[in-house]
Parts: sequence; C-alpha cells; structure tokens
Amino acid sequence: MQVRRRKYRWDRITVVGGTLMVLIVSLASWLAPDSASADEGVALEHPGEALTTTDELNVNGMQEIPERLTQSEVRSEARSNPAEEDEEIKPCSCNRHVLKLPKNPYTDHQVAARNLPNSFFVKNKSEMEAGKRRGDLVPVHDGRGYHITALSHSYAVLLPEVQELLMDMGNAFADELEGSGSEGTRFRVTSLTRTERQQSRLGRRNYNAFNGTSTHSYGASFDIAYTDRPSNDSDCSAPTRAIQNVLRSFQKKGRILVIPEKSCMHITLRR
Ligand SMILES: [Zn+2]
Repeated sequence: MQVRRRKYRWDRITVVGGTLMVLIVSLASWLAPDSASADEGVALEHPGEALTTTDELNVNGMQEIPERLTQSEVRSEARSNPAEEDEEIKPCSCNRHVLKLPKNPYTDHQVAARNLPNSFFVKNKSEMEAGKRRGDLVPVHDGRGYHITALSHSYAVLLPEVQELLMDMGNAFADELEGSGSEGTRFRVTSLTRTERQQSRLGRRNYNAFNGTSTHSYGASFDIAYTDRPSNDSDCSAPTRAIQNVLRSFQKKGRILVIPEKSCMHITLRR
C-alpha cells in the first residue's frame, strides 16, 4: 500500500512538476517581452527620453518664450505709450538752495552791465526793437546745452557778448555731461532782457531798489532756474553737479558775476 501510494505520488509529482515547468516557461516567455520592453523603456527614459524631453522643452520653450516676449513687448509698448505721455520729467532745481557758489555783490553786476560795449538801458519795447535793428541787441534761440523757456516778463534778446557767453556756458554744460547717462540735459534760461515796465511788473523782489535799474534791463544778464533732463532714467545729481562746475569755473575765471537767488541763478557778463 505504502509503495503504491509512493508510486502514485511520484506520478502526481511528475504531472504537477511538468505542469509547473510549463507554467514557469510560459510565464518566462510572457515576462521576457515585458521586461524587454521595460528595458527599452528604461533605455529610452535615460538617454532617449531625456533628449526628447529636452528637445520638446526646447521646442516648446522656443515657441513659447518668444510668444511670451512678444506678448509682454506688446503689453509694455501698449503701456509705455500712455505712460510716456503721462510721464512727467521733473526739472532739476538750479538755485541757492542746491548750488554752492559765492555771491558777487549786486553793485558789481550793475557796474559790469553799464560798462559792456554798446549797453544801454532798455526802457521799453520800441527801444528794444531799435537796439535789435542797430545790432546792439541780438535775438537768442535755444542752443546746445541750454534752452529758453516761454517768457512772460522778458524778451529773448541779449547784448552780443552776453549771447556768446550763454552759448559758451551751454557748450561747457553739454561737454560736462557728454557720454554720461545725463547727456542731452539742458539748462533752462528763464529770464533775459526786461524793459522797465516788465521789470516793474515783477514787483518789489527785483532790483529796482538799486538805483531803480536791473542788469536785466541792459541786456547784460540772464537767469538759469532749472536743468531739464531728456528722461527720468538718470537723477538730478549729475546735471546739478555739471551746472555748478560750469558756473563756478566761469565765475573763477572772472567771466561772470553770480547771485544765487531763491529760485534761480542770476548771471551777468563781467568785463
Ligand atoms: Zn536775474
């Protein structure tokens, strides 16, 4: 019985074993292609997929980034136009509060104004026009480094030597800032030659007290009240330093007399 059972069992074992073997082989054959494709997948994942992923990113990036840029460019352009219109470029002050310059007494200004060749007291507009016809007064226009503001209390005329001085100061100022971030900044001339009437309309704060005359009435003086930058990209420090350097150097050389005022710098040609 025991031998039979054992024999019977051996058969069963063989059958079960054979079946197991078949199962293992078939399993192995199933797994083999799976693992092979998995290997391929892994292989792709590392060099292949990494490359394709990068390429895809690059392609996407190259397509998307310019799109984003152009969009933002368009947006910023759209924004910059009204912004530019709205953008206010604030002038840089040019007066005794920001510039450190010694004051030349006003009587010196008056003596200098009267001693300039062909200078005369410009009593009224017709005398001013007569002076222009004679060539004793010349029209003054915007130039390199300076510009003339809209004038309400003076005329844009000066004695020829004073106009030359203004041009020289403008060039010196522009030279100071050339190549810097403040290049193109101009100083603003806010007052030139005043008739007696224009002078009196300005009120008591002007120099009528000094013998009733102002050096502005001789075509000998002009006022600088601001420096105007081309944009807000740079601050006021360089233009302010530049105008101070120019005024100081011209004053030191004895070419100008200066009165640092509350709201401007009063300049008279010295001779
Ligand atoms: Zn003045």
